Amino acid sequence: MDQSKPKNVFWHEGKVKKEDRERLLGQKGVIVWFTGLSASGKSTIACEVERRLFEKGKLAYVLDGDNIRHGLNKDLGFSPEDREENIRRIGEVAKLFSDAGLIALTAFISPYKKDRDKVRNLVKKGEFIEVYVKCPISVLKQRDPKGMYEKALRGEVKDFTGISAPYEEPDNPELILETDKESVEQSVNKVLAYLENHGILI
Ligand code: ADP
Repeated sequence: MDQSKPKNVFWHEGKVKKEDRERLLGQKGVIVWFTGLSASGKSTIACEVERRLFEKGKLAYVLDGDNIRHGLNKDLGFSPEDREENIRRIGEVAKLFSDAGLIALTAFISPYKKDRDKVRNLVKKGEFIEVYVKCPISVLKQRDPKGMYEKALRGEVKDFTGISAPYEEPDNPELILETDKESVEQSVNKVLAYLENHGILI
């Protein structure tokens, strides 16, 4: 795919700025990027953070791996190239959401460091909050809510992260949630506290 800059296509500045929308919403537009193995708890935690923020009168929106693969990215598989393109598109969408002033909560395995760092570099410092949802594979195999680990271990799923495809742990995530040790509520509280303490909720 040609990812060079298109010629004769210019960024059109709107009349309402990001800061104006942020003031309207009483929050900073940021990306909270949940990364981790399948079944580690990314979607569960992201959805609960969304609900808790909504209760506080804050607008967040979850971009979820499976849902995006049903629509925007339904042409992509799980090869390294497709995973890279999957994350690139999601990063661009999350950037637009954050530019709209929303708290974009993304729940994607996003196994490659390089791809996550590219998204980090799309936005200003402080606007990309990487949350490593960490859980040992032994616990995930027991959880296995979709039966995917069992299938992957039987060799029925190709390129399954953690079994037959790599996962690169973040070096310096803004937050680590250890979901084998903490409850959903404890993890959610940690995310909300981070947002409070870093001036995201105005
Ligand atoms: P992912 O989005 O990372 O693939 P999901 O959120 O879809 O993961 O699934 C995680 C599963 O683990 C859910 O069935 C959830 O109820 C369960 N679970 C058990 N303990 C926790 C915890 N402490 N945090 C998050 N999820 C947990």
